[in-house]
Amino acid sequence: MTRRQRAKRLPEAQWYSIRPVRSLKPATYTCPLCGHRLHAMSDHVLVAPEGDTSRRRHAHLECVAAANLPGRPGQPGLLSRLLGRG
Ligand SMILES: [Zn+2]
Repeated sequence: MTRRQRAKRLPEAQWYSIRPVRSLKPATYTCPLCGHRLHAMSDHVLVAPEGDTSRRRHAHLECVAAANLPGRPGQPGLLSRLLGRG
């Protein structure tokens, strides 16, 4: 249980704003979906519950894709477009 509490989890929300990000900061984040680390300098995505950037989380693109998070109403297909470009 302690382990679960320590893990960063994605806040619950009706929808999530997802945008690709790559930082030049030598930081390491913990992906809220798989619990593994991710480097800021790798290609990843920023997930903001209902567009609330104060609750944003850095996550692996593949984890977000697998989680099939609901996107912003009226803006479907952002993630598919991101994935389709690779
Ligand atoms: Zn992940």
